[in-house]
Amino acid sequence: MIIGAHLSIAKGMPVAIDQAQSIGANAFQFFTRNPRGGKARDIPVEEMEEFQTYRISAGIKYVVGHMPYTINLATNRPDIHRFGMVTLLEDLRRFNEAGVEHLVLHPGSHLGDGPEAGIVRIAEALTYVFDNYQGQTRLLLETMAGQGTEIGSSFDELEAIFRALDWPDEMGLGLDSCHLFAAGYDITTDEGLDRIVDLIDKKLGWHRVGMMHLNDSKQGLGSGSDRHEKIGQGMIGLDGIATIINHPVFGDLPFVLETPVKDYSEYGEEIQVVRQLRKL
Ligand SMILES: [Zn+2]
Repeated sequence: MIIGAHLSIAKGMPVAIDQAQSIGANAFQFFTRNPRGGKARDIPVEEMEEFQTYRISAGIKYVVGHMPYTINLATNRPDIHRFGMVTLLEDLRRFNEAGVEHLVLHPGSHLGDGPEAGIVRIAEALTYVFDNYQGQTRLLLETMAGQGTEIGSSFDELEAIFRALDWPDEMGLGLDSCHLFAAGYDITTDEGLDRIVDLIDKKLGWHRVGMMHLNDSKQGLGSGSDRHEKIGQGMIGLDGIATIINHPVFGDLPFVLETPVKDYSEYGEEIQVVRQLRKL
């Protein structure tokens, strides 16, 4: 199985590969820039090249960048909207150079103007991005818990964004087990998972799903609360996690942990737990 965790590339992308190996991961996620700010570390060409060679010899099968939380393409503030689309385009180009498979983006929060207005603004921003981007790195819109005025907690909203953009090939979907559960999708049973596969396939095409954030949830089904918990210690539980990773369709996705840890080495224990649950 392809499994990894959220690591830091602050000390260099090759260092993240060493960290991934030390926790038994063959994949990892990183923030493309400071999650609370906007400043990007300049990644020298040599580092990108080293990363691409090193990841092959280290057996890293999947790498995904996460856009910072400060990006909000659904905002009504022109400066923030502009900053979001410029930053996204820049990061897609930068990490396309590094051969990163995907970048994950939270669609945005409409801040009280309503989902329809928010979706129009997201579509405007993404139209600008895809008019100016060509590359292999695919953008994944993440399914959200529905906290506050977040857009993307229903597949109808996500479908509306894809439709507004005329279904670009460069755009896909990133799932998150905690977010789906919080949004009211029961992912703890095979029947529940089958229903979600059917729904996604009908509305968006399952082939667009690129990965899943594998997180347990502090709150219950349909809580709308985006609070990640460690694997097996939340409301999804060990049985729920086992059902997801052994499901014939979900089980093939790359999994990335974003659970609350003090130090990345703690991910190692959780990856061990997940691997032991794997029956496929
Ligand atoms: Zn996310």
